[in-house]
Amino acid sequence: MEARDERGDLKRASLSRSAPWARSVVVCAINYNTAHPYSTQFDDPNRGWISRYAWSREDYHDIVLRRLRQVEEVLQQTLRSDECPRPPDLTTRCYVDTGPIVERVFAKYAGIGWIGKNTCIINQKKGSWLFLGVILTSLEFTPDLPAPDRCGTCTRCIDACPTHAILAPYQLDSNKCIAYLTIEKRGSIPEELRAGMGRHVFGCDICQDVCPWNRKASVSTERDFQPRTGLVNPALTWLAEMSAEEFRETFRGSPIRRAKRSGLRRNAAIAMGNSGNPDFLPVLEKLNADQDQSVAQSARWARDRLQKAST
Ligand code: SF4
Ligand code: SF4
Repeated sequence: MEARDERGDLKRASLSRSAPWARSVVVCAINYNTAHPYSTQFDDPNRGWISRYAWSREDYHDIVLRRLRQVEEVLQQTLRSDECPRPPDLTTRCYVDTGPIVERVFAKYAGIGWIGKNTCIINQKKGSWLFLGVILTSLEFTPDLPAPDRCGTCTRCIDACPTHAILAPYQLDSNKCIAYLTIEKRGSIPEELRAGMGRHVFGCDICQDVCPWNRKASVSTERDFQPRTGLVNPALTWLAEMSAEEFRETFRGSPIRRAKRSGLRRNAAIAMGNSGNPDFLPVLEKLNADQDQSVAQSARWARDRLQKAST
């Protein structure tokens, strides 16, 4: 994301600099929502929450890239077919969440949806549970029209964000966002943000769960997006006590590996502290002696919080 070119400019800032041959960007969106309730509909204090996008068996980058390659192939075939007697030279390149592209911005201009106040792309018919992928091409296509902003006067996402990470409409402080804290942040999580994390152990869906455009969001029945066993509303004890071997086996090929076992166990300890459930005290006592300092420290914080709540 922060890669810079030889002039020191952000590569993602300008496509003309990083891919000067590109004339058009084809943006593809695929719905990954499955027929399972939203995080806001669960209330079992023994369980945590893993973001919806991370439930699938395979990393979504691979799933989306496979589909982009199919579109790319159709494009190539069309140019080679009789429909195109003098085919132009074609260069294409596919990206999913990588490369010199901020997908959301191109998705907006391609008419896929508008960027909501929660900073997600929202499609009027399908909602916001969308993976985006782009194909850069050297062909000049007629551009689509951008989708109009339909957030209106709604502020549900801003009001619901438990860490106040949406500072103002369309403005996210990623350092406060639970998605960053639970997935990217290494070491200890700032104490003042722990309570707001609730029982989220990997990512957060709240600002999408409350969005009215997701009330009737499309549901995918594609096998690729169906959840792995145990990941919808997972048991916190299971995550907190997971051995290195079980972590490797359970999350092989999953985006959850990004948080690492250390981060997942740290997050589970914090979630236990936020659960209000004193039954977790023995587990937290054990984690308090963990060799991993961020796990041990989080467990102490969680234990103290539960003890304070029960006195
Ligand atoms: S993902 Fe969660 S923490 Fe991040 S902005 Fe949305 S509601 Fe807030
Ligand atoms: S919750 Fe409301 S303000 Fe937020 S993204 Fe959805 S429609 Fe826009």
